[in-house]
Amino acid sequence: MTAPLGAPWPSSAGRGDDGVLVLGGVSVTALAAEHGTPAYLLDERDFRERARAYRSAFEDAFAQVGTGVDVYYAGKALLTVAVARWAREEGLRVDTASGGELAVALRAGLPGAELGLHGNNKSDAEIAAALDAGVGRIIVDSLVEIDRVADLAAARGVVAPVMVRVTTGVHAGGHEYISTAHEDQKFGLSVNAGPGGGDAPAVEALLRVLARPSLRLLGIHSHIGSQILDAAGFVEAARSVLRLRAHLAARTGVLVDEVDLGGGYGIAYLPGEETLDPRGVAASVAQAVAAVCAQEGTALPRISIEPGRAIVGPAGITLYTVGTVKPVLVTDQDGTTRTRLYVSVDGGMSDNIRPALYDARYHAEIVGRDSDAARVRARVVGKHCESGDIVVHDVDLPEDVRAGDLLAVPATGAYGRSMASNYNLLTRPPVVGVADGGSRVLVRRETVEDLLALDVG
Ligand SMILES: *Cc1c(COP(=O)(O)O)cnc(C)c1O
Repeated sequence: MTAPLGAPWPSSAGRGDDGVLVLGGVSVTALAAEHGTPAYLLDERDFRERARAYRSAFEDAFAQVGTGVDVYYAGKALLTVAVARWAREEGLRVDTASGGELAVALRAGLPGAELGLHGNNKSDAEIAAALDAGVGRIIVDSLVEIDRVADLAAARGVVAPVMVRVTTGVHAGGHEYISTAHEDQKFGLSVNAGPGGGDAPAVEALLRVLARPSLRLLGIHSHIGSQILDAAGFVEAARSVLRLRAHLAARTGVLVDEVDLGGGYGIAYLPGEETLDPRGVAASVAQAVAAVCAQEGTALPRISIEPGRAIVGPAGITLYTVGTVKPVLVTDQDGTTRTRLYVSVDGGMSDNIRPALYDARYHAEIVGRDSDAARVRARVVGKHCESGDIVVHDVDLPEDVRAGDLLAVPATGAYGRSMASNYNLLTRPPVVGVADGGSRVLVRRETVEDLLALDVG
């Protein structure tokens, strides 16, 4: 029997009678023996359940107000051929943000029409590859890019379907969101006019798309942030985009068919942390969309959303082997001296940069055995030549933690492998899919030979 663990662990994760973590019906001791560590383990069923949960939540909520929804899995969170296929089998489309991501989605056999291409600085080669693949939408991000896409499409004798990415001034992440007229960041075109008056950059961009016969204006796109745990920001951004849509219709007679509300749906990283309920946020956004359209007298657009982290983040864990364990004396703010156990693992910031990059917090547990030992304050660190090479800032681990123990960090399915590096020339871990009592390598472990092959010096 296995006792389920619950969030932030994948849905199939549980502890067996011997205390060993079991994922997808396979013990982590067996997985470590077969695939080595560190390894990214992906619970296929959990991924599929979350994909279905987002799709049905948004489809149901928007069906209630009378329109349809497309869910695009944001491939940048983690894209492999198998993952792209799982997404498609669950009825999702896939968003890509580079030629590399596009190539993986195409290798998976996904039809170009079900793919999107994002990016604030797409190369001509990336735009050309997207046009040649017949992607369903290119999300344009600047005035110059509109002309580049139009020219490349015209040269091919095709009409490129485009969405214009706008910034609404709503920026969300975590609990707070702030409204600012102009955001000091690189993405999108503002819905607000500058101090000199005239058209807002977003309006200018929409008009420019309409003026180019080699472009078809599909709609308007907005992405407000990441790891958002509250519906308010999505609602505010949706209102803003729908008002812009109505403004464009009043001005040109063109009512665009589609509105994309982006991704950013938050997940639990730590035990007891809240996670965004897709049904709740879908209902709030659907009501807001219906209300603004009624107010403006416009027909409802088709809606799309782009969850990445919320689909793949909780489905993945990283499995490490413990090496050096070192007690370090630390002085608390109140002046008391305590011991912090520094637990080094065989990976680190090269397989999970988020703690160093965003001060992201994670949980960890010893998963290869049971321990009744008292818990002590610990910090899980990697093997890189940086003191900031921290995997888990603060976690209580059994005081008998020792070299050779298996340690797992949950909720690493998103932005772990996809942001991995070869710092210190470590080889990047494999991605292993686990389901129904079996495991399968989806992306193999890098080898030193792979690294040497790149160095043609
Ligand atoms: C990053 C990104 C997403 C996905 O964000 P998540 O936080 O992983 O859901 C969706 N759309 C766009 C445009 C993005 O840049």
